[in-house]
Amino acid sequence: MIPVELDRQKGAAEAAEAQNLRETYNKKVPARDAPATFAQYAAEGCSLCEFRGACDTFWKNSPPPEPGTNRYGCLNGQLLQIASVGHRLNSLVILCEGADGASQRWEITPLSVEQFGTLEALRQGDIVRAIDFAIDTDGAYRAKPTQAAVIWSFSLQENRG
Ligand code: SF4
Repeated sequence: MIPVELDRQKGAAEAAEAQNLRETYNKKVPARDAPATFAQYAAEGCSLCEFRGACDTFWKNSPPPEPGTNRYGCLNGQLLQIASVGHRLNSLVILCEGADGASQRWEITPLSVEQFGTLEALRQGDIVRAIDFAIDTDGAYRAKPTQAAVIWSFSLQENRG
C-alpha cells in the first residue's frame, strides 16, 4: 500500500489543461493544420525528444552556445567542411547566421565515431543541426560535444532509413 495525497486544486487545473489541449487538437485536425503546429516547446521534455533535429519549434527556442560561458546550446548551419582530426574522430565546419544576421563559421570538434557515427553521408552544403554543444575554452567559434550531443541532418536520416 502506498498512500497518495490528493491535491484537488492541482488535479482540477491539470484536468482543465488536458481539456483545453483536447479542444485545440479537435479544432486543428479538421482544419488540416500542419502537424508542426502541435509542437509545444518545454526545455525538459524536448531534451528527451528524438525529433529535436527536425522540429522547427525546438529550433526557434534553442539558442547557440554562448562564447565565453560554459552554457551548451544548439547550432543550425550549412556544412562547409568535414575532416578527420584523429583516430575515429571527425570535425565539421558549418556556416551559421548569428542573432544579428551576420554569418559565423563554427568548428564542431571532436566528434567521435562511437557517439556520432562516421558522418560519411554528409555532403558539403547540407543543413546540419548540432544539438547540445558547449564552447571550448580556446575558441569562441569552436564547439565541443556534451555527452547528450547529437548531430542531425536530412542526409543522415535518409542514410539510416
Ligand atoms: S522537440 Fe519538438 S516534437 Fe519534440 S517535444 Fe519538443 S516541441 Fe515536441
